[in-house]
Amino acid sequence: MEDAVWQQDLKGKVALVTGASRGIGRAIALALGDLGARVVVGYVSDEMRAQNVVSELKARGAEGRALRIDVKNIKEAPAVIDDVLAVEKALHILVNNAGIARDNLLIRMKEEEWYDVLETNLTGAYALTKAAARPMMKARWGRIINISSIVGVIGNVGQANYVASKAGLIGLTKAVAKELASRNITVNAVAPGFIETEMTEKLPDDLKTQMKALIPLGSFGAPEDVAAVVRFLASEGARYMTGQVLHVDGGMVM
Ligand code: NAP
Repeated sequence: MEDAVWQQDLKGKVALVTGASRGIGRAIALALGDLGARVVVGYVSDEMRAQNVVSELKARGAEGRALRIDVKNIKEAPAVIDDVLAVEKALHILVNNAGIARDNLLIRMKEEEWYDVLETNLTGAYALTKAAARPMMKARWGRIINISSIVGVIGNVGQANYVASKAGLIGLTKAVAKELASRNITVNAVAPGFIETEMTEKLPDDLKTQMKALIPLGSFGAPEDVAAVVRFLASEGARYMTGQVLHVDGGMVM
């Protein structure tokens, strides 16, 4: 039993990672592949980069394929899960990672900016989680991991839409964790701090300097730092954890 608890082996498991063509999602896809999972690499606009991730998976001895999933189009969610089940014959791990930011101060924020972010980051996760829950309940095994953000816990200026979506993901995580626990499905969230990806690369240098000064560990994180925690949550070693929010932020929020 003790061995099973610490085992980090995902051989025979199928994982779906949304927004896995780059950044944090890409690192998560590769990390799950390293543990033996077969990975469905979600993308929305950049098929080439998603195919590159599949090639990287194969080069590391793992299996995977790219699948176009627009998480904003929630009507597609049941068909996406059906596709995974038809081809892969199972779905054990869902990582709701796809996300966007459309920053603006509240008084200037357009409805479109609000809805774009809420629909992509939160409603998209709701729809895929709902569709994925059924096969996981049947299998009596599942891992759902939502990529939130520390700003969902502490707030941030100019990001009312993004912060609301990320705080909403934490609420979704806890509610669904309680609903699905009896079926041996765990639902957890990861709240990254400042991670170096294309999402953060566009931020002005003076803001980056200010933010770095707030990080006790003194540097920005890498996508692999987040992926390592997701990999743990997906593994058997995390079987007794659900409804949790794990911060990966260099100590920024504590
Ligand atoms: P990123 O580099 O901008 O990558 C975003 C990914 O999401 C891409 O793979 C993109 O796909 C996909 N995507 C965008 N809109 C989508 C849609 N409608 N449907 C499906 N996929 C969509 O972002 P990142 O920095 O890796 O962030 C990944 C997640 O971590 C996000 O949820 C973000 O909010 C969260 N996060 C990031 C940080 C950070 O500091 N970077 C901090 C906290 C939380 P295509 O390439 O196909 O367009």
